[in-house]
Amino acid sequence: MSEQKYIYNNGKFSKESYELDSKLDSNEVLVKPLRMLICASDLHHMRSQKDTPIVLGHEYVGRVTQVGDSASLSIGDLITSTACLHCNECKQCEAGFTNFCENRDWLGFENTGALSTLVKFKDHHLVKLPKDISLKQASLFEVASIGYQAANLIKIMECECDPIVQSSTKEILICGAGPVGLFCALAAEKLGYEVTLLEKVSTRAKKATDLGFKCLLLPEVLMSKDHHHKFNFIIDATGDVHGAGAFRYAPMLGCYRFKMVVVGKYLTDPKFEFSILNNMGATLSFMRGTPISALQSVVDEWKEDIVKWEPHLITHEYEFDEVEAAYETTSDLNSTCKIMIKVQD
Ligand SMILES: [Zn+2]
Ligand SMILES: [Zn+2]
Repeated sequence: MSEQKYIYNNGKFSKESYELDSKLDSNEVLVKPLRMLICASDLHHMRSQKDTPIVLGHEYVGRVTQVGDSASLSIGDLITSTACLHCNECKQCEAGFTNFCENRDWLGFENTGALSTLVKFKDHHLVKLPKDISLKQASLFEVASIGYQAANLIKIMECECDPIVQSSTKEILICGAGPVGLFCALAAEKLGYEVTLLEKVSTRAKKATDLGFKCLLLPEVLMSKDHHHKFNFIIDATGDVHGAGAFRYAPMLGCYRFKMVVVGKYLTDPKFEFSILNNMGATLSFMRGTPISALQSVVDEWKEDIVKWEPHLITHEYEFDEVEAAYETTSDLNSTCKIMIKVQD
């Protein structure tokens, strides 16, 4: 039976049939994507895509349907992966930075994505998921791993021997209370930081508050000097598909020598002001995806959090044939958090 996938090209989705060779190398695995979630980086790629068609979908849960002779998975296993499909052999992979693999493919940004009914992987791309959770819950692990990785990058940047960092409370500001920002907040809290979220959409701020976080609205933060030059650590999790994220506010909200992780991309050039960043002595780190170890850690450690959070996060569900409507819904930041597409059962 032929498979089906949605291809995005020049502003339009089209459904196409395709065949996958079922002859597998020994470490190859065939996977049926079951549920996928729309991510802000999908929107970036849709905007920048020119002439090379893409198959979207990198936040997903799938079921293994066929395995090569020595593959480390079994038929029926529920799996997910990172967006970066690494080679497992290059220097970066050997050092654990699989998200910087020198021979990578990208899931959901090139010609393979979860918006299709069958995908071939190498077994080392995949992380096995627990059996006792729903497909909705299972679809959230990849986006959770982005938050996990961002907070852990802050931890790496934090200098243990810095007397100021040691003596003061470790205040972290997380800009953007969308799904990534919320998972950054969860990870940062688990690492012992005192978390403040910053959001401009009031319904999103309320969701963050409902989940137990302190969340401030952008105008109150900009107006009140109480929040200025306060934060040692900042994560920009806005993944801004409309502008230049929260970067421009960082020198006002960060204290001297603030450390900042930028997750994802901005639509427009943030125009880094060298003299201001120099004056502040800022340290910046830019995140590109997550290593597979971060995804594995989230699967091992965050099951209970994800089960608890799923009803708050997945706000919309669409069928496979409603892909266009699903992506159109993303423009409504007030009512959406995560939008799910049921690829198949
Ligand atoms: Zn994503
Ligand atoms: Zn590699």
